[in-house]
Amino acid sequence: MSGPHHQGIGMTSPRTRERMVQRLGDQGIRNLRVLDAMLHVPRHVFVDEAFAQRAYEDAALPIAFNQTISQPYIVARMTELLLAGMPDNAKVLEIGTGCGYQTAVLAALTRHVLSIERIAPLLERARQRLRALEVVNVTLKCGDGYLGWELEAPFDGILVTAAAPKLPEALVKQLSDGGVLVLPEGQRQQVLKVYQKRGDTLLQASLEAVSFVPLLPGVER
Ligand code: SAH
Repeated sequence: MSGPHHQGIGMTSPRTRERMVQRLGDQGIRNLRVLDAMLHVPRHVFVDEAFAQRAYEDAALPIAFNQTISQPYIVARMTELLLAGMPDNAKVLEIGTGCGYQTAVLAALTRHVLSIERIAPLLERARQRLRALEVVNVTLKCGDGYLGWELEAPFDGILVTAAAPKLPEALVKQLSDGGVLVLPEGQRQQVLKVYQKRGDTLLQASLEAVSFVPLLPGVER
């Protein structure tokens, strides 16, 4: 690969990624498939050039339009929660494509990822990055993730990467039986929640405190 994102080899090399993955293991991420995917997806490609040197730190970093790429630990944790008990050929929905990094990690671990982003120019950049990396099993659209993607439902998993004040009902409807939904819930105080649909019941668990940008209604062109 060439281009500005790939300069400064020292800080963006596979060795740096190995150290990040080691740290994730120390932080309690156990799913080896998730660790392996994060070893291979070049995170520095997804952050703005000015931050490429910091791509593998355990930090959330700014991307365009006042949004942030989640810290590696959160990406790993949410992916691990989503994948637990999910079939190998899962079809998953992501709400909040952002820079596309979480999308690429999910794509490495599932059959197909559909991802919705409300800010059109952000989505286009993610599209270009994913294409450059030859990630082919993703479908992206600009839309309001509150509504989910009805035509493509049901989903084995739904991952929301922006905080919702409360659980969006449309997303629950679009889960398959046994399907898992992972999302940050709350406004100022947010908690990572996992829901699982079992027939007519919805199981839920609250995990750690998190800090995400808000899930906003409507789209920005
Ligand atoms: N997974 C992303 C995280 C980006 S931050 C990454 O790895 O970069 C959350 C993203 O959710 C932002 O890009 C924001 O624009 C988007 N978002 C917020 N509300 C949304 C909605 N209702 N529908 C779709 N995307 C939304």
